[in-house]
Amino acid sequence: MTATNRLISFVRDYYQSNAFIPLHAPHFNGNEKHYVVDTLESTFVSSVGAYVDKFEQQVAEFTGAASAVATVNGTAALHTALYMAGVREGDFVITQPLTFVATCNVIAQLGAQPVFVDVERSTLGMSANKLESFLNEQCEQRDGQCYHHSGARIAAVVPMHTFGHPVRIDEIAQVCARFGITLVEDAAESLGSFYKNKHTGTFSDFAALSFNGNKIITTGGGGMVLCASEELAQKTKHITTTAKVPHPYEFYHDELAFNFRMPNLNAALGCGQIEQLIEYLAQKRGLAQAYQSELENTDLEFVSEPMDAQSNYWLNAVICRDKKHRDELLTQTNQAGVMTRPVWQLMHTLPMFQNAICGPLDVSIWLAERIVNLPSSVPVPKEAP
Ligand SMILES: *Cc1c(COP(=O)(O)O)cnc(C)c1O
Repeated sequence: MTATNRLISFVRDYYQSNAFIPLHAPHFNGNEKHYVVDTLESTFVSSVGAYVDKFEQQVAEFTGAASAVATVNGTAALHTALYMAGVREGDFVITQPLTFVATCNVIAQLGAQPVFVDVERSTLGMSANKLESFLNEQCEQRDGQCYHHSGARIAAVVPMHTFGHPVRIDEIAQVCARFGITLVEDAAESLGSFYKNKHTGTFSDFAALSFNGNKIITTGGGGMVLCASEELAQKTKHITTTAKVPHPYEFYHDELAFNFRMPNLNAALGCGQIEQLIEYLAQKRGLAQAYQSELENTDLEFVSEPMDAQSNYWLNAVICRDKKHRDELLTQTNQAGVMTRPVWQLMHTLPMFQNAICGPLDVSIWLAERIVNLPSSVPVPKEAP
């Protein structure tokens, strides 16, 4: 049997299924139905309701963030986080080319431009060394801020914890502090991931989580801004809720703002899901360990959690020998009804970002030709007899 066929039968055995096996499917075996029906019966399905507050508190408590603000999706959470961090028209924002397009879209939607620095092979996320070299070579500090040689201000650095594997966020934070740049974490994929025992998304004043249908827990659509203080959270809440000044009947809004709030209906689903997060994390770790031992001594290198980190193993990944090997694996697994996927096309190759300023990107380019994601849904628990 070839290595690929062995992998296919391993996945089928693990999920005990001969049907199509998706990359990441949600399941709802807890109190989700109960809470969602509760919102229907109460009629509070929309912008008012207790589940939003409850879900925000549960996420803040789990992550250790001072406070959290729910949003309509993860992209809106990122948009808000960057806005709150002070990103404005004409600024540059440094991020990694190996990310989902939302990271760069929100930078551009704010009138800023993404600048790309390379990732590290061991974390798949931003390299602190490459960030530092870029800043040393192309930027200078003035009045406590950092400016690119072109004159644009470097308003923020946005690393992303790829597939849930934490970047070396403390090193990146140190570089940012030295150059006077604000750090914002794209933690959309890393709920349940810790770096040196501290939850991802709590190393910056603002960070974004996503609860899209394919993430570790879902609200259907939804996101959250993690904030480093109660005061920042209150301002964030204000800006995501049309900046309406509370009043029994008057409509008064005191600044330009967004309508990014999460509906109560979605928050109810989230409250049902987060009760199961610990169990999901344990099951995902079990699946990752099973992949790792299955793939030992093969030509597929399993991506395991980086040093000093505890990954949520949201999406399992392997690194192939080369692009040809990757394409063969993708074709054979998908033909066999076992869904696998390559990583995103690198951001600096997309039409809207092709003129972006980039540092050397050789590790990102090398990885993008070789990464394949494997089915990573948590195994559905056996029905009670
Ligand atoms: C999922 C994701 C987002 C956006 O989340 P949505 O809820 O789909 O808007 C942003 N960044 C990354 C890296 C993601 O994986």
